Amino acid sequence: MAVKHHYPHAVPTLGPAIEHGFYYDIDFGNAGKPSAEDFPKLEATMHEIISQALPFHHEEVTADQARALFEMNPYKRELIDNLEKEGKTITIYYTGDTFFDLCGGGHTDTTGDIAPGSFKLDKIAGAYWRGDEKNAMLTRIYGLAFDTKEELDAYITQQEEAKKRDHRILGKQLKLFTFSELVGPGLPLWTPRGTLIREALNDYVWSLRKQQGYQRVTIPHITKSDLYIKSGHWAKYAEDLFKIETRDKHLFAMKPMNCPHHAQIYASELRSYKELPLRFSETTMVYRDEQSGELSGLARVLSITQDDAHVFCRESQLEEEMGRVWQIIETFYGTFGFSLTPRFSRRDPNAPEKYMGGDEGWTKAETAIKNLIHAKSADNWIDGEGEAAFYGPKIDFMAKDSIGRTWQVATIQVDFVQPTNLELEYVSEEGKRERPVMIHCAVMGSIERFMSTFIEHTGGNFPLWLSPTQISILPIADAHKAYAVSIKNTLSEKDIRVELDDAKEGLGKKIRNAREMKTPYWAVIGDAEVANGTVTLEHRTEGKIGEMKVDDLITRLTNEIKEKK
Ligand code: ZN
Repeated sequence: MAVKHHYPHAVPTLGPAIEHGFYYDIDFGNAGKPSAEDFPKLEATMHEIISQALPFHHEEVTADQARALFEMNPYKRELIDNLEKEGKTITIYYTGDTFFDLCGGGHTDTTGDIAPGSFKLDKIAGAYWRGDEKNAMLTRIYGLAFDTKEELDAYITQQEEAKKRDHRILGKQLKLFTFSELVGPGLPLWTPRGTLIREALNDYVWSLRKQQGYQRVTIPHITKSDLYIKSGHWAKYAEDLFKIETRDKHLFAMKPMNCPHHAQIYASELRSYKELPLRFSETTMVYRDEQSGELSGLARVLSITQDDAHVFCRESQLEEEMGRVWQIIETFYGTFGFSLTPRFSRRDPNAPEKYMGGDEGWTKAETAIKNLIHAKSADNWIDGEGEAAFYGPKIDFMAKDSIGRTWQVATIQVDFVQPTNLELEYVSEEGKRERPVMIHCAVMGSIERFMSTFIEHTGGNFPLWLSPTQISILPIADAHKAYAVSIKNTLSEKDIRVELDDAKEGLGKKIRNAREMKTPYWAVIGDAEVANGTVTLEHRTEGKIGEMKVDDLITRLTNEIKEKK
């Protein structure tokens, strides 16, 4: 309505609600069209309309009546034709007496119900009618809309903060990973600094798994197609598989998941109930042929490192085993200050045909999850009705990061289907052959996804134990260099990742460089430090800590590393 007020020639087309607001595609033809500089003017008119508390009312009309109302608007007429073809009810919404639009509805009573300041025009872009480049190019105006001004302000602050923390920018600045045109999009190359973090995270997950009785296994990255035909993945995911033809013209594939391989280790011996649960763990890459348009930084890649694990157990062991995974996930994410909310992803009771496996097993697994969720997190959980995978129910963990965004992170998935497809068995107490259940449980999910979340969560200020460089030694002048080297060597011997900045630059520049790389500590070495056998320690956020003996420095750093603070 505000656009029509300022641009009477504007032809509105489609304008849906989207997450955090709305957009509207408008054809301004060759006459004047707005730019972002016109937003204040449009917003002022929007506020004016709101202050008039114009009533919304709707009318059901026939297709012919609707076409007559939109005689001058070919886009709306196309929509009306489609609605007519689909046999849908056509409704027109009026705002006051003069403005009306074709709309499915869902409106407040009057424009006065919209809180002033709860919305803001956001950006402007080009968009083809119906997303088809053969069609007319329209102008898309995006708006943000919330219930209150406070929510809008919070969202804007969060977006500004998110922009500063973009993992693609920080990844480059901190030299963690890179992409090469020759290697291809979606295939990150991890530098020594990035690899240090990946390995440290992975070691941590493994140390937690080990306490819960996991064993490590190792599998190749390719397989004959036969494995996926038998597991059922070929039929379902053939398009996403990277396929390989051998010199003998046999068809192989890069693995898109590890479970069928791990299941073959399980199946290599006749298992007894006494051996269960068997807990296999492996951090390894999987490969998925995603469309290149979907690739973005580390959040979506073709080579995905999973910190994967599979538990083979009896149905009666599900609750205990999922509890063990939960313990690992809770400890891991707790270390980084993520707050977790579990989602119970269960069957859609109205669509039982969507799920494979017997009702009895499903009910047992869903009961086990419910018991676990009640015991572990009382009321703080989300009911994900209909969110189960076709092969079993799961627990999905949602993590809230330091700027209030929510990410889906770890999952614990029960699987009835793969043990059946791959004919896994064990011998029970009665000597009968029984089917085990599988639990899939990646803690980080994928290291790439976790890293993207973690970089943005910390803004690149990694805790000391994960910092590629833990401390920089900064000699003020050449005369201090020999002493600086000796400090460096001493710290290195204690497994502290230390760098010496002996460039011919002023101290100020050296400190700026350390800050730029978000190095947690730096130690300044001048005449006094050399004379006293000390260093003067500074921290990236705490500032100057003071002069201290080298032994005290080592104690401080090693404790902080050990405690994973
Ligand atoms: Zn799996």
